[in-house]
Amino acid sequence: MSFADFDLDPRLEKALAKSGYTKPTTIQRAVLEAALEERDILASAPTGTGKTAAYLLPALQHLLDFPRREAGHARVLVLTPTRELAQQVEAYGRKLLAGTQLSIGAIVGGKDYQHDADLLKQNMDILVATPGRLIMYLEDEKFDPRQVEIMVIDEADRMLDMGFMPVVDRIAAETRWRKQTMLFSATLEGAGLDNFVRELLNDPVHCDA
Ligand code: AMP
Repeated sequence: MSFADFDLDPRLEKALAKSGYTKPTTIQRAVLEAALEERDILASAPTGTGKTAAYLLPALQHLLDFPRREAGHARVLVLTPTRELAQQVEAYGRKLLAGTQLSIGAIVGGKDYQHDADLLKQNMDILVATPGRLIMYLEDEKFDPRQVEIMVIDEADRMLDMGFMPVVDRIAAETRWRKQTMLFSATLEGAGLDNFVRELLNDPVHCDA
């Protein structure tokens, strides 16, 4: 099976070819198939399996299929437990959307409040954020959660370990109009994610790496 089997936008196919990827990994095959049908995703996929592209590709395809008419806040929100991961996801997303008009940004803390507040004023299609930082801007009404159509929770097991789940829960409630949620975790076994998964995901497709 190749990426061509998924009928992705030619601009995404080109970006993939440029990255040297010809074949989707196991998790990419499973997630692409279900996510392109707008199903919720519960994925067990550690780092190194190609999980980032597994959620970014269907999210980007959605944005290209349904272009935005007016400037606004993020339509895709990716939550990560750490600043480093957020920056990696942003860099990777930037490569995948290189041939498109789409934009991506990350707010991760570490920079002053106004820097990220200014970033949030810009038209942005995809926002990558750590939960603690994002909630500050949500509370200050500097980020409009009603425009989020797809939410991704990356490394959910680490989010749980780091005590972020109550914050993620609040962000999930604020973005309740979204159409799709994808949750990725290195492991689902004994990770204590059950309640969370039940609340957040609507009849999810289980995908394994
Ligand atoms: P991740 O699991 O997202 O951290 O990705 C692990 C590594 O695999 C990254 O360095 C990606 O650039 C690479 N990668 C992702 N998808 C593919 C693919 N389909 N073929 C080859 N390498 C890939």
